[in-house]
Amino acid sequence: MHFQNFIDGQWRGSKELRPNINPSDTNDVFGEYCAASVSEAEEAMAVARNALDTWRWTTPTQRADLLERVAVLLAERASDIARDIAREEGKTVAEALGETMVASRLFRYYAGEPLRHPGTALPSLRAGIDVTVTYEPVGVVANITPWNYPIAVPARKIAPALAYGNTVVLKPSEFTPAAARALTQALVDAGVPRGVFNMVMGDGKALGAALVGNCDAVSFTGSGPTGRRILELALPTMAKVQLELGGKNPLVIMADANIDQAIDIALRGTFTHAGQRCTSSSRILVEASIYDRVCEGMIRGLREFRIGHALDDTTEVGPVANEQQLMKALGFIDTTLKQGGELAVGGEVLSLRTPGYYISPALFVGTTNDMTVNREEVFGPVATLSKVEDLDEAISISNDSDFALSSGICTTSIAAAEKFRRRSKAGLVTVNSPTAGLDYHIPFGGRAPSGYGGREDGWGAAEFFTEMKSSYINHGVV
Ligand code: ADP
Repeated sequence: MHFQNFIDGQWRGSKELRPNINPSDTNDVFGEYCAASVSEAEEAMAVARNALDTWRWTTPTQRADLLERVAVLLAERASDIARDIAREEGKTVAEALGETMVASRLFRYYAGEPLRHPGTALPSLRAGIDVTVTYEPVGVVANITPWNYPIAVPARKIAPALAYGNTVVLKPSEFTPAAARALTQALVDAGVPRGVFNMVMGDGKALGAALVGNCDAVSFTGSGPTGRRILELALPTMAKVQLELGGKNPLVIMADANIDQAIDIALRGTFTHAGQRCTSSSRILVEASIYDRVCEGMIRGLREFRIGHALDDTTEVGPVANEQQLMKALGFIDTTLKQGGELAVGGEVLSLRTPGYYISPALFVGTTNDMTVNREEVFGPVATLSKVEDLDEAISISNDSDFALSSGICTTSIAAAEKFRRRSKAGLVTVNSPTAGLDYHIPFGGRAPSGYGGREDGWGAAEFFTEMKSSYINHGVV
């Protein structure tokens, strides 16, 4: 099977084919994808620019209808799409199904936006003049996305971009061509006009300049170094840039917390999807008096995790997504041991029935906040558990990070929760709830260097995917 690119209303093959390997079973090659050339990426950008004038002037109903149809198609196809995602990316079918339904709901949510998104009218300083502030599409949008949410992350960018009248070129991750094809097929079947949506697969490094250099706005989710590179690429044209990058997210557990609930929150928020979420907790900070209980509970919970093939219904945690991810996690484990951390549980490469990138979730104790594992993003199933004396120390360690994406606290004290919420420097704060797995209609993102250029989702998306126009109309009527 060949996963093709979609340019100017047509599926297109290309010369270069690359294998799509199942991380749960590396003997299973799930087709080959067509890596687009630089000139194909440039063509996709040019086509999107040509289509802009017609799309931006469509009626709100036309745009709403398209998005609604995509939402319906994704929901109808969700179980097949979920199996494809589980096969190519390694998350469980249940996780992939949840993700696909989020993608569907994102399209439904944004289907309401063309009619709902308001402008503003204000009095002028001068008599006889009316002032309006209205919103226009930014133009041609490049959406560059990662493998960890291969349908929901593209959906959260494409749906608002189209809703507000922009045209789109999607560059999905090299590791998830089937998810990109499924999403593109839903747009095609829903009747997206020619050129309005295009999709090119391939090496981000090779295609980056063609995409970013020819867009009006780029929305990117991925790693910090790539985000910085995109910012540099956007500088000459001053394209609008939105970056959703990494995290090193703390979860604080106070002595007054419901401890069983807190352990469950820590386990789910840290290790679901093998820790491959930018909002996963990775630094778990526990008040000293309950530390041993939490530590024992976490170790017990992690030993019970059923790790296995992503397509197996009994699997709770699949493999990591690719060899690079496995090597990265192992590298962090090695460094942490060398720096004096103690591995409380996990961190072993597992040989299961099929050859895959399996690793048991690793929990370190005895680390300090200046160790590499607590400074840099692992993006895998590796976390640390540390003791803190009180809330002030917990807040201070939470904020002692280069990142500022999400943070959480488990407590029954409303005062402790509110103090943490106010003092945390993260862009997302949770109380008695995992730091990951947030709502799709609420602005999402962190402060630099975890995020840049404004929030995604909710009205964050409206701000990014539109440009403001302030108009002064001298009608002479006083
Ligand atoms: P990850 O490690 O999660 O794959 P990356 O930031 O490397 O994170 O990749 C996220 C997305 O960015 C992918 O679609 C990838 O192809 C793309 N990408 C990588 N390098 C560049 C670049 N220099 N310019 C534009 N896109 C890039």
